[in-house]
Amino acid sequence: MDHLQQHLADTLKARRSERGWSLTQAAQVTGVSKAMLGQIERGESSPTIATLWKIATGFNLPFSVFIEADDVDRAIPRRRQLLQEYSPADNLMQVLPLFPFDAQLNFEMLVIELAAGAGSESAPHEPGVVEHVVVIEGELELQVDGNWHRLVQGEGLRFHADCPHAYRNPRDRPVRFHDLIHYPQR
Ligand code: MN
Repeated sequence: MDHLQQHLADTLKARRSERGWSLTQAAQVTGVSKAMLGQIERGESSPTIATLWKIATGFNLPFSVFIEADDVDRAIPRRRQLLQEYSPADNLMQVLPLFPFDAQLNFEMLVIELAAGAGSESAPHEPGVVEHVVVIEGELELQVDGNWHRLVQGEGLRFHADCPHAYRNPRDRPVRFHDLIHYPQR
C-alpha cells in the first residue's frame, strides 16, 4: 500500500468510527457501496475522484483531508512536484491540494485539471460551503444550479455550493483551475 492509499484508508476508518457509523450507514450517507468502502479501508482500492468526492461530501469533510494531512505551520513553497496528487487510472481529472484543508481558516485550495472534453459532476455540499473557482489555463464551463457559465484564463466565479454543480472542459486541450473551497465554522 502506498502512502496515499494508507492515509486514505486510515482517515476513512477514523472518521467513520468517530461518527459511530457502520459500513452500511456510511454507504447510505455517501452513496458509495459498502463493499467499496470496505476495500478502501483495507487499502485494496484506489477510488475514482468522483467516488472520493462522494465520500467527502457524505461525511461533510473537505476533499483534501483524505489526501494529505495539513501542515500549515511549515512555511514551505508548495511546489507541484511535492504535492500529493490524486489522479486515478483514467487520468481525465487530477486534483492537487495546493493548500490542504486548514481547520482554523476553514478552507482548502485545490488545483484541478480536466483533460480535453472531460467533465465532473458534484453533489451539493453542506449549507455554507462556498467555492471560488479561478481558471489558470484553458477554458472552463461551470454549471451552478442549472446555469452554465463559461470562464477563460484569469476569470473567476464564486458560488454557494450547496446545490448541484458541474465542471466541464469544452476545449481540445486541458483546463487547469484553482478551487478554493470555504467550509462553515464548526
Ligand atoms: Mn464542489
